[in-house]
Amino acid sequence: MATYSHSKVSTFENCPYHYKLKYIDKIKVDVPTTIEAFMGDIVHRTLEKLYKDKKFKKRVSKSTLLKFYKDTWDKEYSGDILIVKKDLKAENYKKMGIKFIEDYYDRMKPFDQLTILGLETQDKMTLSNGDQWHIRIDKLACDSKGNYYVCDYKTNARMKNQEEADSDRQLALYSIWVKDKFKDAKSVKLVWHMLAFNKDAVSERTDKQLKKLQEEVINLINQIKKAEKENNFPRKVTALCDYCVYKSICPSFKHQLEVEEKPLKEFKEDEGVKFVDEFAEIKNKLKELQNKQDELKKNLIEFAKQKGVDAVYGSNMKCSVKEFDKVVLPEGEEKDKFIQLLKDKGLWEDYVTLNYMKLNSKITKKEIDEELRKMVDIVKDFRLSLGKRKDVEDE
Ligand code: SF4
Repeated sequence: MATYSHSKVSTFENCPYHYKLKYIDKIKVDVPTTIEAFMGDIVHRTLEKLYKDKKFKKRVSKSTLLKFYKDTWDKEYSGDILIVKKDLKAENYKKMGIKFIEDYYDRMKPFDQLTILGLETQDKMTLSNGDQWHIRIDKLACDSKGNYYVCDYKTNARMKNQEEADSDRQLALYSIWVKDKFKDAKSVKLVWHMLAFNKDAVSERTDKQLKKLQEEVINLINQIKKAEKENNFPRKVTALCDYCVYKSICPSFKHQLEVEEKPLKEFKEDEGVKFVDEFAEIKNKLKELQNKQDELKKNLIEFAKQKGVDAVYGSNMKCSVKEFDKVVLPEGEEKDKFIQLLKDKGLWEDYVTLNYMKLNSKITKKEIDEELRKMVDIVKDFRLSLGKRKDVEDE
């Protein structure tokens, strides 16, 4: 049975191809991490130190903690860490982390509201399908009344609202483990310390909700297993790609990163750039021509009507303009009735056509009868589509 974690299944949900690179191919890249993840990691370690030192009755001063944070940052920071927001520097993130720790320290001091049961836990639980699930709780605590607290430090720049807290999967799954491990638990509260806002978001789940959640996770795991079996990991291009450490080797961005390093002259000389520019130009011209053709068609019809003719003559060609009866099929409910009537009268087979697009999708996704699949050939083809580059401003 395999082991899964919140970050593993989230990676698959966000982009199956990223999942493949990270967990199957185990690709190492030049970009070690993003600045957000780097800062978040050191903040986590600093707050872990706070509670560890307290457990061993060491004096926990704010200045000691901040020194630990700054020293760790200086020791581990490297220039290849990815900073996506171009108007910010590493120093800005370092200062943000300092503020998070200061605010948390001032708000929580003297840190004895709860009994700490675990920090950065590394346990596992068995899901109902037999797979293992990693339990990584930043801070697990309880009070004297039998309430347990699964706490997570968040360095996000956006406050978690109640709806998001109530639908969050990560901590909710951990509460299954807590309920199982601590039989005296009267309640398990899920707490997100939103450090950027110096506030907490809190949620709690019923057993029924947890059962449903576990089923959803198992369903997701089954999708991962299916993708692994079929070696089918499509790319999902979203805003998250800006933070992806595999961007430079991802087929959806590799060429972009290659050419954006080039000076303008070399950029314009790049074969791919030239192909796309020309392709886009031709597409635009075709669109213009199509519009022009539609306009000419209208003019010719009008001209023929006015003159009372059904052929208009040019220098070398003539254009016949013939009026004909065009059938417009009914829509909505009437359409259903129309189809039913065709069937009732035994005419359906004569006029129905195959929906190729739908059939193509069902066959390639293996969602159709095996006997039918065996009768078709599947060959490789390409579909080209032009889109605006989101990283380039309009001229
Ligand atoms: S850059 Fe985007 S599409 Fe490519 S692997 Fe990363 S997340 Fe997936």
